[in-house]
Amino acid sequence: MTSPDPRTNAPVVATITAAGAARTRWQVLVIGAGPAGAAAALRLAAAGARVLLIDRGGMPRWKVCGCCLSVAAVDELRLLGCGTGDDSRLPFDALPLDSVSVAHGGRSAVLPLPGGGVVSRDILDAGLVRAAIAAGCHWLPQAHVASIDEGEAGAQEVAATLSVRTPASAAMTSHRIAADRIVLATGLADHVRIAVSDRTIVAPASEDGRHVAAENRIGLGATLPADAAELPFGQLVMAVGREGYCGIVRLEDGRLDVAAAVSRESLGRNADPARVVAAIVAEAVGRSSLPMPTTATLTAAAFRATPPLTRSAPLVSGATGRILRCGDAAGYVEPFTGEGIGWALASGRLVAEALRDDEPAAGAPLRSPAAAAARYRESHRRRFAAVHARCRRVALALRRPGVVMAAVQAARVAPWAARRLMPAVIGAGPTGGRR
Ligand SMILES: Cc1cc2nc3c(=O)[nH]c(=O)nc-3n(C[C@H](O)[C@H](O)[C@H](O)COP(=O)(O)OP(=O)(O)OC[C@H]3O[C@@H](n4cnc5c(N)ncnc54)[C@H](O)[C@@H]3O)c2cc1C
Repeated sequence: MTSPDPRTNAPVVATITAAGAARTRWQVLVIGAGPAGAAAALRLAAAGARVLLIDRGGMPRWKVCGCCLSVAAVDELRLLGCGTGDDSRLPFDALPLDSVSVAHGGRSAVLPLPGGGVVSRDILDAGLVRAAIAAGCHWLPQAHVASIDEGEAGAQEVAATLSVRTPASAAMTSHRIAADRIVLATGLADHVRIAVSDRTIVAPASEDGRHVAAENRIGLGATLPADAAELPFGQLVMAVGREGYCGIVRLEDGRLDVAAAVSRESLGRNADPARVVAAIVAEAVGRSSLPMPTTATLTAAAFRATPPLTRSAPLVSGATGRILRCGDAAGYVEPFTGEGIGWALASGRLVAEALRDDEPAAGAPLRSPAAAAARYRESHRRRFAAVHARCRRVALALRRPGVVMAAVQAARVAPWAARRLMPAVIGAGPTGGRR
């Protein structure tokens, strides 16, 4: 698979209108154009399927994220053929990520992070959508899906109702898009209602089997100007405090990306997210010499929030096996280990492989809904059960200040031992530590 040069911030223009999309019978409709949806759409289109990729927003777009690529993410991107065209190991405009400084209680330890990268989500996600279009997929931005109708039992299609804003009048128009299968890659904000013949399944946890962990954290993110701190390229600082943690890294264009996971209680007590992040950084960094933005700079930043982070949802929804979830929409833990983009890309690959072989005969149908669902459940379990469990253990350990302080001290005293323990914390290698 080859992809066009992604090094541009120009809008990724629609390849079809909503009315045109409604007149077409799609094999796969992918809802959500983050890494999971774009990877699934790219692979399915490259394998010859008729695919429509839609998103409620446009591309490029900003997203709350630490913007660090794990080794597994770099590997998935390389498999997708997403590169800059030169012999760079990293995709798009990504910079190498060299080390992480973990700060807690005024102490810090530096650990190497070989093989990873840093890239803004504007560049990464837009680049992936461009690559999906180049592979033959259609793209419709600014299209918000509120509901999916599975139809009667035995129906041969599913349909999504989407609303788009008409540029001329700014009025909303509604369109019904029919497809053989739907891939829900809507991220943490997975609020699409699924209607089956005799009842409606509304998104919330209790009705859709969704699990929200106790002490679930909220994601916060902002971008700071380049001169907000002296932080060098390639160095990630993770500040760990009692109310959460915050990562700061320099992006390819020099700006600083700030991403945090904070307790809901801290946001409840102090309504200003910027102050919560600034307090975590101040508590963790203390008087150490780490090159961090000042409290005043952080409190002046405009932070955006995510829904609660830790979740899991059914991989196959509805009654017919035609609706599959991938990426954060299927499950997410917490961002400390920096694996979400890699997980999203891998689950996009798995859902595409479940729906269709890599090199099918021209015009071949998708696998039957039952066979695809069974294959996807199994491959997803094999890829993610152990790594999600590892990430949950790390997330729990981070809530215990004594454990974090002991880990930072140990890494200062015996850095070689800490390096050897890194895979047990953040995973390692292309599979992210999967056994
Ligand atoms: C604070 C924080 C820091 C993080 N740091 C890192 C990191 O450093 N490295 C890393 O690998 N991961 C990190 N992650 C995780 C990573 O951001 C996610 O795991 C990843 O973006 C998931 O990709 P996705 O494609 O599943 O969802 P998303 O990237 O969230 O994409 C979902 C898309 O669906 C669209 N959408 C949603 N609802 C609808 C709808 N109804 N209709 C149409 N479109 C819709 C949205 O507009 C969006 O574009 C971090 C997360 C947080 C919260």
